[in-house]
Amino acid sequence: MYFDAMEMEMDMHRSRMLIDGQSVHSLSGQTAIIRNPANQDPVGVVSVGDSRDAGLALEAAQRALPAWKESSPEMRGRLLHSGAENVLRRADEIARMLTLEVGKPLKDSRREVEAAARVLDYYAEEGRRVFGQWIQSEKGRSLVVREPIGVAVAITPWNYPVDLTSWKVGPALAAGCTMVVKPPSKAPLAATAFSLAVHEGGLPPGVLNVVHGPGSVVGAELVENPISRKISLTGETETGRWIMEHAATRIKRLSLELGGSAPFIVCPDADIESAALSCARRAFANAGQLCISVNRIYVAEEVADRFIPLLVRGAKALVVGDGQKPDVDMGPLFSQDQLERTKEHIADAVLKGAEILCGGRPPEGEEYELGYFFLPTVLDHVDHSMRVMQEETFGPVAPIMRVASIDEAISFANDSRYGLAAYIYTQDLLFGLRAAERLEAGSVCVNTVSPVDLHTPFGGWKESGLGRELSSSGIDEYLEVKHIRLGL
Ligand code: NAD
Repeated sequence: MYFDAMEMEMDMHRSRMLIDGQSVHSLSGQTAIIRNPANQDPVGVVSVGDSRDAGLALEAAQRALPAWKESSPEMRGRLLHSGAENVLRRADEIARMLTLEVGKPLKDSRREVEAAARVLDYYAEEGRRVFGQWIQSEKGRSLVVREPIGVAVAITPWNYPVDLTSWKVGPALAAGCTMVVKPPSKAPLAATAFSLAVHEGGLPPGVLNVVHGPGSVVGAELVENPISRKISLTGETETGRWIMEHAATRIKRLSLELGGSAPFIVCPDADIESAALSCARRAFANAGQLCISVNRIYVAEEVADRFIPLLVRGAKALVVGDGQKPDVDMGPLFSQDQLERTKEHIADAVLKGAEILCGGRPPEGEEYELGYFFLPTVLDHVDHSMRVMQEETFGPVAPIMRVASIDEAISFANDSRYGLAAYIYTQDLLFGLRAAERLEAGSVCVNTVSPVDLHTPFGGWKESGLGRELSSSGIDEYLEVKHIRLGL
């Protein structure tokens, strides 16, 4: 039985898979219940697939490929625009699902869905700008063209499941690739509803498919099956490493957007108020479950006593609660694992000499008892022996280290296996630029904490990943270069 009587009775979202234009159950008939991290209420029931379903989705994408890659960029653009319109039409419903399954405040969910529609609109136009070259030489003429890679796979995480799906679906489809999406297994509802809305914008069957299930089964099949030619993952560094190893068998093209541990440097001449406000925003947005979260704060000794109280004030001002309530700034963490990791990192820091300036525990009260809530936490006097500075906490923790010089701050900032985003606050823009040149990260922000912009490339250095998303670089990831030589 697919959705059993108990599941049907509950007022829950039912999420099937999308294969070859059809909304289908998994072959095994297995289902899983999705729960609200704010209170454990069941909010959805989802078909759970296995490698057979993944295989069927890849075959459907393969069948749809020849016609899709032959279609004009204008037509693909029209269908992507129409998908974006559909997404916006259903934005309230998709945003509500997102809040129910991952816990983030409803206003943030709504922003995420709108951003995802903008990504589709952007690539609807960018697809027309896949140009080639005509090269003349002594013995011949050459045409250099860029062609879609083939069947592409998108594997996405739970923290921004809708937006990050659009980062892959938009450029892949615009480039002429067909795609299989595997949403995060514990939060597949909103990403599936988004993909359905895109499909119902008029895509031919098989161009966009969605399969649900565990990464180790469904994700693994999508990576290893010879049909897929391109894998785009956003997820943990360890998952990226696994995919890289297994995709190596057939030398598949990869885009890997992985973990981060972003440094935030406060220079002596910084606008301290603005730095503290921005720091609080970027450390605690989405309860710190963000790959570009501020993870390590290096503040110049001489301004630390001005900066720190302002950061603490910003942390304490945040309203923590169920994301469905309109005044809430920060929802629960996504899972028990996230909560445990956050607690462990704080305990490790305290044991090694850090001081908790605020937070450091779950909020008190009946409304918090069943959820994975945790207060925004500021730690002072941390050092690089602590896990908060070495690993990705993915929780609402802002650890501060006081530094004697900005040279010292930069060398600590670079002392990380990650290199996704870095932030520096200074009023001397030239100094900021020189510092940006020395920081090892895919995005460096001077006096802002917004590295993500539709028009600019986003991606990581070192163990934060490979390849770039967004901008014209995002579409390059789905194109192969072909040289056509004409002999004279
Ligand atoms: P995760 O790696 O556990 O899961 C991501 C996706 O990979 C899920 O869909 C999962 O089912 C799938 N997966 C897991 N094992 C797999 C396997 N063996 N083969 C194929 N697929 C597999 O990550 P998560 O916990 O969902 O997300 C949090 C992580 O994502 C954090 O590390 C965060 O930094 C990272 N992230 C990075 C970016 C970025 O742009 N760099 C953005 C958001 C999140």
